Amino acid sequence: MKLLVSACLLGERVRYDGQAQTLALTQLAIWKQQGLILGYCPEVAGGLPVPRPAAERQVDGSIRTAGGTDVTAAFIRGAEATLALCVQHDVRCALLKERSPSCGSRHIYNGRFDGTLVAGEGLTAALLRQHGIRVFSELQLPEFIAHVQTLLSQGSSL
Ligand code: SF4
Repeated sequence: MKLLVSACLLGERVRYDGQAQTLALTQLAIWKQQGLILGYCPEVAGGLPVPRPAAERQVDGSIRTAGGTDVTAAFIRGAEATLALCVQHDVRCALLKERSPSCGSRHIYNGRFDGTLVAGEGLTAALLRQHGIRVFSELQLPEFIAHVQTLLSQGSSL
């Protein structure tokens, strides 16, 4: 079993603005050193460039840029590629970047590009959950670490 982590949280400059959102977490660094972490960016996997226009999930479920371009297909491709990777590596737990239209797991932007957050999840987080993978965000680090440690104590071979 491996752990899936949003690539931008691992310092990869794959965000829409060409930046990373590096997470300084000792435990994560240790697991990474042990080769247990799979870093992945669903949007890049879906074929989107870096940088790229910001996009938000709309009330009808589609993903659009502020200019109105429908990028839903690329987001779906990315979510499906992420799920395939998880199946391949027996991923049962993921740490994904909150608020992203792909990786957000509890809150995303409202689709109007006015900075307002609403309860909701990104396409990738939703698809992983539908397939039984526990998804945490960087705002739930104690819960994430505790969950992984429980898996380890139950004998899962990370
Ligand atoms: Fe990070 Fe996920 Fe956005 Fe890629 S899609 S930049 S991994 S939040």
